[in-house]
Amino acid sequence: MTEVKTKYETVIGLEVHAQLKTKSKIFCNSATEFGKEHNSQICPVCTGYPGVLPVLNKKVVEYAILTGLALNCEIAKHSKFDRKHYFYPDLPKNIQISQYDMPICKDGYIVVNDKKIRINRIHIEEDAGKLVHAGASGIAGSSYSLVDYNRTGVPLLEIVSEPDISSPEEARVYVEELRNIVRYLDVCDGNLEEGSLRCDANVSVRPQGQKEFGTKVEIKNLNSFKALQKALEYEIERQVDEIEQGGKIIQETRLWKDDQGITISMRTKEESHDYRYFPEPDLVPLEIDAEKVHQIRERLPELPGEKRFRYTEKLGLSGYDAGVIADSIEIARFFDRTAGITGNPKAAANWLTGDIAAYLKENKLSIDDTELTAESLTEMIELIDKGTISNNIAKKVIITLMEKGGSARQIVEEQGLSVISDKSEISAIVKKIIDENPKEVEKYKAGKKQVIGFFVGQVMKETKGKANPGLVNKLFAEELDKT
Ligand SMILES: [Zn+2]
Repeated sequence: MTEVKTKYETVIGLEVHAQLKTKSKIFCNSATEFGKEHNSQICPVCTGYPGVLPVLNKKVVEYAILTGLALNCEIAKHSKFDRKHYFYPDLPKNIQISQYDMPICKDGYIVVNDKKIRINRIHIEEDAGKLVHAGASGIAGSSYSLVDYNRTGVPLLEIVSEPDISSPEEARVYVEELRNIVRYLDVCDGNLEEGSLRCDANVSVRPQGQKEFGTKVEIKNLNSFKALQKALEYEIERQVDEIEQGGKIIQETRLWKDDQGITISMRTKEESHDYRYFPEPDLVPLEIDAEKVHQIRERLPELPGEKRFRYTEKLGLSGYDAGVIADSIEIARFFDRTAGITGNPKAAANWLTGDIAAYLKENKLSIDDTELTAESLTEMIELIDKGTISNNIAKKVIITLMEKGGSARQIVEEQGLSVISDKSEISAIVKKIIDENPKEVEKYKAGKKQVIGFFVGQVMKETKGKANPGLVNKLFAEELDKT
């Protein structure tokens, strides 16, 4: 398969829907909070009663411009809204207000692993509601469905890439980066599982070197980064197989079945809608002046790519550490606070990507949920650097700092965790261990020098890891050579 696969080139374009974090909906003042009781956040406007008029939420326009600037887009001076017509039970108006030929942003790009992925456009639209498939046996066996309109009218940005993505992995990294950016901008919470970031993929294959695109297939229902990558891997293999066997790819929309790991046909091109777009008569066109764009540009925060660059170039972090830190806005903020006060940002990065990350993952926490502060982490690193505590002891201190908070120095004092560097104290323990283990001493004398590891381990056991390891090694070498 791999051999056959290298004959082909993959072309992927992605459409990402980002739900904007506004308090109220796009054209009315119904609330947008996720997970509320069904149909508790609706009004005549978002449920499409006759005679109602939409009023545009100005935050939506600001968020769209902010996102456009972060994605290096051109911001339109003139833009407008259009009606997209289709019937579906979760769309009570039978129209969706969207943007057709004059999107608010166009011609942008982001850089993913040193490669530029172009953004074709970003447009604003309203979300539809949600069908809840009821019935005892879940979706497949439902005898009826219910509809929840809480989501109708929640503002969305649709971010459409050019077909510049050439592998499933690159597609995943692109969406991860988009997620980072909207989270940094604080315009979307980027939660794929809750559907606040949703992704459809267009994928085709063509023989290496061929200029024309192959027939593309759209894949829907990609609810996680893993699903996105897996679905694309499956679909590429399916298309290559089909072509190799002399078949033809049909332009269609396919659904990813996560539980079975396959895509299935949903509808072909012939069944696709004619949406009959026309300008929304109830909303005035958008006029966006340069001053407004300038004001919004001033609010752009340092973005993940800029952070990664600063971390590696200015602070000397490894590319891996810089990536892990910048991939989480909470960790990045924490690291920035710590880097501002510590003399050893590299050590702070090591702790954040090592023990701290492992603890957060295991307990499903964000760093902001813990009691750790930039000050207490800095203090702990100082204690290590001065030799007051060993790295092994620090691994315990960091857990206490996260769970209970407080000062690292105080924890070390209260729990008696300082490294024992008293030569006579360690010397006594060393002599005791030698006396208790004559067989090991024999081995050492017979030339098996690595036995020293066993001796050091015994001292660490006796001192609960607090003995100064350098001193322990030195004293053993001295004592053993004497015997
Ligand atoms: Zn409403």
